Amino acid sequence: MTEPDALERDFPLARLTTVRTGGPADFYARPDSAERLVELLAWTDVEGIEVGVIGSGSNLLVADAGFRGLVMKLDGALASIERDGNRLLCGGGARLPQASARAAREGLSGLEFGVNIPGTVGGAVKMNANAYGGDLSRVLEWVEVATSSGTDRRVPDDLRFSYRRSGLAPREVVARAAFALDRAEPDEVKATLAGMRERRKAAQPSGIKTFGSTFKNPDDPRAEGRSAGVLLDQAGCRGLGVGGARFSDKHANFVENTGHARTADVIALMAEGRRRVRERFGVQLEPEVQLLGDIDAAEVYGP
Ligand SMILES: Cc1cc2nc3c(=O)[nH]c(=O)nc-3n(C[C@H](O)[C@H](O)[C@H](O)COP(=O)(O)OP(=O)(O)OC[C@H]3O[C@@H](n4cnc5c(N)ncnc54)[C@H](O)[C@@H]3O)c2cc1C
Repeated sequence: MTEPDALERDFPLARLTTVRTGGPADFYARPDSAERLVELLAWTDVEGIEVGVIGSGSNLLVADAGFRGLVMKLDGALASIERDGNRLLCGGGARLPQASARAAREGLSGLEFGVNIPGTVGGAVKMNANAYGGDLSRVLEWVEVATSSGTDRRVPDDLRFSYRRSGLAPREVVARAAFALDRAEPDEVKATLAGMRERRKAAQPSGIKTFGSTFKNPDDPRAEGRSAGVLLDQAGCRGLGVGGARFSDKHANFVENTGHARTADVIALMAEGRRRVRERFGVQLEPEVQLLGDIDAAEVYGP
């Protein structure tokens, strides 16, 4: 099959992630329509090429050696936000905080929880993102999923959401999503967003290079209801560093790139954090961050 147009090669990925580490992708494309997305997926199928999708890269760790495959970042119509009555129609590449702000301006309520989640709509669906008790599946009406054979519509029940997880397969890409929202006073929704931004500023470090929560909050009874951040803190990880990576002073479950971290530093730090929590409390922390490229999963997911 002939190679699709406008593919870039050896494209650096570090700057597409919020932690700013990792190497290049062999191929890179910015599809701006569902047709183009399907065309690219079909090409990778025929050629046996791996596929990666990057949204805002806010929950992503890319291998230092990069990714031997095609990385796509959605653009144009696949990153747009439009109102349709009480619905907000978003491209999978639309930024969630922008969608929340747009809903507020339009006097639509239900997407407020997205204001502090620095990802895209597609990334939020894939990760079942959540904050402050908001629930993606409560307002998500449908998603349009692209595969190598075309697009299909799925409703939340089809997506098998669980904590920070959906049933989307690796070569399935969220092209569009519709949120069914309630009418509200724009000023009230805007005030809610402002309050949420303030709460977040007080609770989490800002202006650092990080992918947010590193580990999921465990449901192991030995955690006694403590969050991953509290367990890491109590295991002495707050401020702990490896190379250019360290657990944040303000929030022990955030790994920070202090300047010149490599993904290898982040992984070694994560492994040390997991080891300490396991030894101290018997709890196995499970990473929330997603991996792209050849990363030794055993190091991250551990024994
Ligand atoms: C400071 C900070 C605060 C955060 N706070 C929260 C929070 O409160 N709640 C929360 O849930 N998360 C939070 N996160 C994590 C992150 O923002 C979310 O997981 C977000 O949903 C990831 O979206 P993204 O577009 O950045 O995805 P990426 O990091 O780019 O990718 C994550 C995964 O989603 C896949 N993906 C991306 N786009 C698509 C698509 N269109 N179709 C299919 N798969 C796709 C990727 O392939 C990858 O597997 C935070 C992160 C940071 C840095």
